[in-house]
Amino acid sequence: MNAVVDLPKDHLSSVGKNIPIYKERGQREVFCGLTGIIWLHRKIQDAFFLVVGSRTCAHLVQSAAGVMIFAEPRFATAIIDDRDLAGIADAHEELDRVVKSLLTRRPDIKMLFLVGSCPSEVIKLDLSRAAQRLNKEFLNQCRILSYSGSGIETTFTQGEDACLASLVNEIPKPVMAEEKNLLVVGCLPDVVEDQFQRLFNKLGIARVSFFPPKNSQQKIEIHSNTQYLLAQPFLAETARLIEERGAKRISAPFPFGIEGTSAWLKAAANQWGVSAQKFDEVTQPKIERAQKALARYIPMLESKRISFFPDSQLEIPLARFLSQECGMKVLEIGTPYLHKQHLEVELDLLPENSRIVEGQDVEKQLDRCRADKPDIVVCGLGLANPLEAEGITTKWSIELVFSPVHGYEQAADLAELFARPLNRSMKLAA
Ligand code: SF4
Repeated sequence: MNAVVDLPKDHLSSVGKNIPIYKERGQREVFCGLTGIIWLHRKIQDAFFLVVGSRTCAHLVQSAAGVMIFAEPRFATAIIDDRDLAGIADAHEELDRVVKSLLTRRPDIKMLFLVGSCPSEVIKLDLSRAAQRLNKEFLNQCRILSYSGSGIETTFTQGEDACLASLVNEIPKPVMAEEKNLLVVGCLPDVVEDQFQRLFNKLGIARVSFFPPKNSQQKIEIHSNTQYLLAQPFLAETARLIEERGAKRISAPFPFGIEGTSAWLKAAANQWGVSAQKFDEVTQPKIERAQKALARYIPMLESKRISFFPDSQLEIPLARFLSQECGMKVLEIGTPYLHKQHLEVELDLLPENSRIVEGQDVEKQLDRCRADKPDIVVCGLGLANPLEAEGITTKWSIELVFSPVHGYEQAADLAELFARPLNRSMKLAA
């Protein structure tokens, strides 16, 4: 059986090496953008995320956050109830009341995000207007912003894109050019951010900052002398707004694995005129350590066949890392959305026989997966257990977003995330 036979050829396009990109539309098995709150609230330490949504949204955020809800949370849901839906209560008044009591109780909150959901969109609750109104009232206490994390508009990591875009939107344009600086864009765990900061500084790139910042008071520098590096592949809108303010993107693969990290750092180093000798001096010890750590996992991964279901947009860079550095064979790379420009270098590094599918029709994809019989499938929680029951080894894609996986020091940890389930299934089979 030809596994790709049902993919619509009319939407076929291709990239660099003539790798076909198929487009598929249909039933989807993905998270909505609200999930982004889980890692965003950990990053921006004085921010609070108030979802304006239904009980479904509250359940989603709570179950995604798992055990963290027992600590003092910096996210919550203002539930739209029947009275709001029926127009009996003025939803704006209700929202003002909730925000006021929240900010009175929690003066430590310096930035409040009103996060839109499917229900708030359907009843056309204008959160940007609400944010403007509340901003006036809390002028010296807290900045209030809004973005949508609804399932109608956003898929999983696109929630981060929408959040960061709302932050960039606050920066006036055009802005005066200042001294050349490097901006690293995309939420990274603090430990990874600190490692990159040290590497850039050792390379002689002193003016480097990370976006989003660790706290709301930190100034974000974007002007026509800013060069920015994307640390995540799902930031289409944020990148567009950053460029509207004059900054230029440094084209690079994403910093996954040793090769990806080196090429990512090198792309910035070239813009700062760092010599090849200096670059090697700084990176070589890190590369050697990372190679040693990664070598442990290669025998478990080499020649194993992998398929990705669409989830986070990390699929293409991860497929590149696994094929280029771990010797895995990539069958299908599903991605919810493909930004060709941001991924151009990644696409060039993929093996020629890769099959990329943008969008999803889950039943058809499952049929292809069963026909392909991959050794491991990367998919969401909803598909993982049913596939395991069919004898297919799976890796939960959500872990790839929640764990520190960028950079040299995490290259082996990233490989281990795939080696672990393969190892477990081998043990079970034995
Ligand atoms: S925003 Fe939409 S998709 Fe997400 S939990 Fe709420 S209702 Fe569901």
